Amino acid sequence: MASGNTVLMRLVASAYSIAQKAGMIVRRVIAEGDLGIVEKTCATDLQTKADRLAQMSICSSLARKFPKLTIIGEEDLPSEEVDQELIEDSQWEEILKQPCPSQYSSIKEEDLVVWVDPLDGTKEYTEGLLDNVTVLIGIAYEGKAIAGVINQPYYNYEAGPDAVLGRTIWGVLGLGAFGFQLKEVPAGKHIITTTRSHSNKLVTDCVTAMNPDAVLRVGGAGNKIIQLIEGKASAYVFASPGCKKWDTCAPEVILHAVGGKLTDIHGNVLQYHKDVNHSARPKPDFFRAQLFLESHSCFSQ
Ligand code: AMP
Ligand code: MG
Ligand code: MG
Repeated sequence: MASGNTVLMRLVASAYSIAQKAGMIVRRVIAEGDLGIVEKTCATDLQTKADRLAQMSICSSLARKFPKLTIIGEEDLPSEEVDQELIEDSQWEEILKQPCPSQYSSIKEEDLVVWVDPLDGTKEYTEGLLDNVTVLIGIAYEGKAIAGVINQPYYNYEAGPDAVLGRTIWGVLGLGAFGFQLKEVPAGKHIITTTRSHSNKLVTDCVTAMNPDAVLRVGGAGNKIIQLIEGKASAYVFASPGCKKWDTCAPEVILHAVGGKLTDIHGNVLQYHKDVNHSARPKPDFFRAQLFLESHSCFSQ
């Protein structure tokens, strides 16, 4: 392990603070009451003012500090001067105290690609299912997802009006994942989590064919990986091309850092080069994510 003062660890430390700021923006837009909803490709593919402001905040904050990064954000926004109020300049000092895995110690800024989903679970956000929402910042090197940050702006939401909202989960391959308690699903239970708002016959047939004990339909790719690492589900299966690289990059790192696996149906790792097709897989393939803990072998590989 090298010292924490490497480009990668400085980027992760900044991404942590930047994701926190984005989470605050996501909460502020709800509090102000005007979501500014726009349909992108269809009625289940939405963009809100929070998606727009959070992306501006994340991408501009990262670009100011790390001008040679390749940053790819979900939302297609006009390039305009970003309000200084949206810029986050700080970094999470605790991360800088961690060592950098030696295989990443000499990475240069220009070697990294950052995949940004400023608000994952937008459909659920517009429906008030706020704990489904996450902010995702994934970091890739040589086409592989190697570090990631997930902010969950409404974590603790059910705890009542006085609860402190929000948490940030982060991870680096070879170092670990932090900011949550790793849990297993109850022994012998085979629980699949999948989409709640982008389903179709193939998606449901595929889940049914796996004969699970229960199906957990929740919004957001980030949120579904959280269901895996916190023991609410044993596998995430999505037989649809709808997920994009910004949906899977950060969640994949967190899952891999704790011993899970996110692959396409053939067991291949996903690619995160800057020129890659943004869809996770072209039709009609799909991906699956699973956490392997102790004797978990509920679904054959
Ligand atoms: P879901 O599990 O439905 O919350 O989807 C996870 C992520 O993939 C979200 O960012 C969705 O916006 C995206 N997604 C999944 N299916 C589609 C689709 N059919 N059209 C647009 N986005 C999709
Ligand atoms: Mg998303
Ligand atoms: Mg999004």
